[in-house]
Amino acid sequence: MADLYAVIGNPISHSKSPLIHTAFAQQLRQSIRYDRIEAPLDGFVLSLSEFYKKGGLGANVTVPFKQDAFNLAHFRSTRATVARAANTLWFSGTGANVAIHADNTDGIGLVRDLRDNNGVQLSGKRILVLGAGGAARGVMGALWDEHPAELAISNRTPSNADALVNDIGVAIGADCIKVIAPAGSAEHRFDVVINATSASLNGELPAMPQDCFATHAVAYDMMYGKTLSPFLMHAAAFDAKTIDGIGMLVEQAAEAFFIWRGARPDTTSVIAAMKPLISLA
Ligand code: NDP
Repeated sequence: MADLYAVIGNPISHSKSPLIHTAFAQQLRQSIRYDRIEAPLDGFVLSLSEFYKKGGLGANVTVPFKQDAFNLAHFRSTRATVARAANTLWFSGTGANVAIHADNTDGIGLVRDLRDNNGVQLSGKRILVLGAGGAARGVMGALWDEHPAELAISNRTPSNADALVNDIGVAIGADCIKVIAPAGSAEHRFDVVINATSASLNGELPAMPQDCFATHAVAYDMMYGKTLSPFLMHAAAFDAKTIDGIGMLVEQAAEAFFIWRGARPDTTSVIAAMKPLISLA
């Protein structure tokens, strides 16, 4: 019987994770089944428990359950602890002695896509992250590990950015992340501007400081779709290089696959295979 994995979220029908993990398994000649599970908004724990009882070995977790997944775990990686959110779970032990392990692969997924797939140097660069939700929380630690000259955050609701900085500052250092007002002029320009808001999902341009793109800046939108998002279109008008989040999606999945299976898939071919599927969606 194939080993059982799943992605749990709400909504979940749009998720590309089953396609990606099935491609990894085929590439590495492994036998897995990967399902989508839509948990009721108040039913994450029950859904995960039913999945485990069916023989589930590991699960990815997406909106809105990443913090629930973190809170439920008995063992948490440093990456998950910094983010206070988990997107990858797995089990050890059996029966009453089962333990849940949690990791967060979003940050390493973003960094690998920027640095390794797109050749974007992060060390010594000024990086601005827009948004202060689960996605932003997941990537700040990994971005900081790349030794940027500056790591800043700007969010529509400034108090949510302050809360993120307070939480993450406990793990990476209180003064590491600078909060920038979402409107008005940026103090200076940024080499890499990352849209970690959900504005693109609604076809909106997120609030951001004016003139935030440096010459030859890179603009990265965690969202992906058939066409450039309003954020990437805006950035292109400032001559920024534009990158969407499909590579991050595949890279965070590859790290989860490695955690579960101990084998690292080649991501280049899977990213290339996903692009036409996204444009047909
Ligand atoms: P959350 O709901 O946790 O957070 C949403 C964030 O977006 C908040 O900071 C919110 O600001 C801000 N926001 C929402 N609408 C607007 C708007 N119109 N203008 C400005 N800011 C806005 O979502 P997540 O953090 O989980 O996800 C964010 C995005 O990242 C999604 O598009 C998701 O699909 C993508 N993502 C992609 C991944 C990938 O692998 N490519 C992985 C994870 C996420 P406020 O605090 O003011 O409400």
